[in-house]
Amino acid sequence: MRTRFAPSPTGPLHLGHAYSALRAHDLAKDASGTFVLRIEDIDRGRSREEWEAQIQEDLRWLGLSWETPVLRQSERREAYRAALDSLWQRGLLYACTCNRRDVLSAASAPNEGEPLVGPDGIVYPGTCRSKPRAHTVLPDGVALRLDMSLALNQFRMERSGHREAVPENDRFRAFQETGRGPNGETGIIHSSYGHLQNNIGDVVLARRDFGTSYHLSVVVDDAFQDITHVVRGEDLFDATLIHVLLQHLLGLDAPIYVHHELVRDETGSRLAKRHDSMAISSYREAGATPADIRSLVGL
Ligand code: GLU
Repeated sequence: MRTRFAPSPTGPLHLGHAYSALRAHDLAKDASGTFVLRIEDIDRGRSREEWEAQIQEDLRWLGLSWETPVLRQSERREAYRAALDSLWQRGLLYACTCNRRDVLSAASAPNEGEPLVGPDGIVYPGTCRSKPRAHTVLPDGVALRLDMSLALNQFRMERSGHREAVPENDRFRAFQETGRGPNGETGIIHSSYGHLQNNIGDVVLARRDFGTSYHLSVVVDDAFQDITHVVRGEDLFDATLIHVLLQHLLGLDAPIYVHHELVRDETGSRLAKRHDSMAISSYREAGATPADIRSLVGL
């Protein structure tokens, strides 16, 4: 068993992160497996070495140890380009020149109703999807989106094992998991093709400024690091559906996903989303012990 904790060094480690890290760590250690720390620093504008150092120090203080050397996503550009190239060559990606404002105004056009919001914000209304696609070399310096409809068609065809696709209303059987699904269910989680198509849509797989995206990098690196169990918050459930689809398209093994509940305060608000959610370092300074942190998050 290999599990991982994959923080972005863009701020302090808080209780919600600590909970996720402890769950992933304990799962591996209880099975005599390996725990991996991966630094998700593709956002060069927001990532800071100081935050990475602080995160590592907090995790060590909590009693965690991990495999070394630690992988940094900023060093993996070539692997991401290779994965993007494979999707690009099959016509599954298209270049998108829309900025946030373009997406918002297209999605709020009078006949469109309320814009749908997916895991990455407003579901892309498809403005650039129909532009002619020149399938030559993978372009650089432009955003690339996954053509969700084509990708799902490919997935359905291959699932059914013949040229005829699995019918549209068949369930998207994503993965096995030992944690909870969005409705509290356990076991194999189902979603629908329609949900991926309409509520997730053409997600960005390469940002113009990074040349990759969270979704693409995480899938490529979980496979590269032979992660067998991904432990993450249930807020990432829709992201997991994207990841399972990408694993399929890229021919990568799918890990088992364990979605855990989010750490909440007394009023039920998610700590991660609150400005004043306390950093682990503040608890330390106030005299808390690692055991106190474990008990605060219910472990
Ligand atoms: N870097 C991501 C985060 O901190 C990793 C989460 C995941 O992929 O499980 O939210």
